[in-house]
Amino acid sequence: MRFEYAPAPESRDVVDIKPSYGLFVNGEFTEGGGTPFKSVNPADETVLAEIACADEADVDRAVQAARKAFETWSALPGSERAKYLFRIARIVQERARELAVLESLDNGKPIRESRDVDLPLVAAHFFYYAGWADKLKHAGFGPDPRPLGVAGQIIPWNFPLLMLAWKIAPALACGNTVVLKPAETTPLTALAFAEICVQAGLPAGVVNIVTGAGATGAAVAGHADVNKVAFTGSTEVGRLIARSVAGTGKKLTLELGGKAANIVFEDAAIDQAVEGIVTGIFFNQGHVCCAGSRLLVQESIQEELLGALKRRLATLRLGDPLDKNTDIGAINSAEQLARIRTLADAGEQEGADRWSPSCPLPDKGFWFPPTLFTGVAQSHRIAREEIFGPVLSVLTFRTPAEAVEKANNTPYGLSAGVWTEKGSRILWLADKLRAGVVWANTFNRFDPASPFGGYKESGYGREGGRHGLEAYLDV
Ligand code: NAP
Ligand code: MG
Repeated sequence: MRFEYAPAPESRDVVDIKPSYGLFVNGEFTEGGGTPFKSVNPADETVLAEIACADEADVDRAVQAARKAFETWSALPGSERAKYLFRIARIVQERARELAVLESLDNGKPIRESRDVDLPLVAAHFFYYAGWADKLKHAGFGPDPRPLGVAGQIIPWNFPLLMLAWKIAPALACGNTVVLKPAETTPLTALAFAEICVQAGLPAGVVNIVTGAGATGAAVAGHADVNKVAFTGSTEVGRLIARSVAGTGKKLTLELGGKAANIVFEDAAIDQAVEGIVTGIFFNQGHVCCAGSRLLVQESIQEELLGALKRRLATLRLGDPLDKNTDIGAINSAEQLARIRTLADAGEQEGADRWSPSCPLPDKGFWFPPTLFTGVAQSHRIAREEIFGPVLSVLTFRTPAEAVEKANNTPYGLSAGVWTEKGSRILWLADKLRAGVVWANTFNRFDPASPFGGYKESGYGREGGRHGLEAYLDV
């Protein structure tokens, strides 16, 4: 007899979504000059709210407000700036349930993840950088490191509030002011964060949120009075931004895509590796830049591992993101769903074997079942291109040297995973893998104290940890 899970929905009532939202400029919500757009709930395609769109003039107002606020904000002692950041961190914790529900509604991610991963990490990031604000002269960047000025920040839709925290917390701790553009499909938690800034009594103009699409992002990155551009998103847009910033003297950090190898050796603990593979690619529907999207398994254990993985995948529950039992939520947009479908179809056409557990999909909304491809060759698109969805490509290797060669055979270099009992092999691989983060016997673990960033087409610069301060200091 098999027990079924009863529905355990989190209440929507903990969050009060307004019918429409303005831009947050100079401490106030204002209208935008562009055509307003709608943010939808990807799980049922209902409209959540109408959002103002910032045009170039609005971005200019925001940058001017940030420039003015910079004079006083940068002159505050670090210990005073820290108080604001600690206050923001505490308000985030107090409002965590509301923010988690809002994030799941706007993004489609399971409440279990927004509640247990995103929100705790958002608060931790603010706490962590609050701690640095009065210790910058001990951070290893000289006796009196100075802030840069106004930071223009552009973030994607996969971890909306967490990416905001990664950008805003270090910038403010170092004494900069910011103009941030959230992604078009997930602006709501950034606007809730604007309210938190007001609640925390943050001086007007220190944080400005300009909502809109790509053109608004381009206006932020291209504004002549911005001193620093921080971008997280696709490699294509990262290239455009690098081109627009070249020669202007603006400081730039880029956090771009990835195609990480998750490497399992024959001596690995199989059950733990299976959990790590699932976390690696099915966490957040695979909308993770550092997702373990290429499984490299040692040939001798391929059958055993894939058998165990398929049994595990058959237990994943896909559906209502607000249900506390849900493992896999909705794909963030129709556009992203189309991209995942195109690449998965290409996998079949190029000759790989496609497998998914039996998994009924809801009628409304954007959904894609957890999918596994075996018989994948290095040359296949699904082995080379970032899918950014719940799709795993399985390749095999025989020797450690072959594993390294295959893992590094990608234009990206953001992360990698290694599963083995042997410590010396972990160290050897960590040295050889061209990836910014290498996880050993775990995957997709984040900590504000640990730097994160890429090699090659995954971008440059580091976010998080002491290293993350450098991007916001004149060093
Ligand atoms: P995207 O299309 O590059 O969008 C990222 C952000 O840039 C969005 O706010 C977007 O606005 C904006 N944008 C679009 N065109 C722009 C332009 N010409 N100038 C300035 N800004 C522009 O990426 P995405 O599809 O949202 O996100 C997925 C990608 O992000 C994946 O490739 C993933 O690997 C990467 N990612 C990387 C990291 C990391 O830390 N390395 C983390 C998360 C995601 P709209 O919302 O209107 O499109
Ligand atoms: Mg949305």
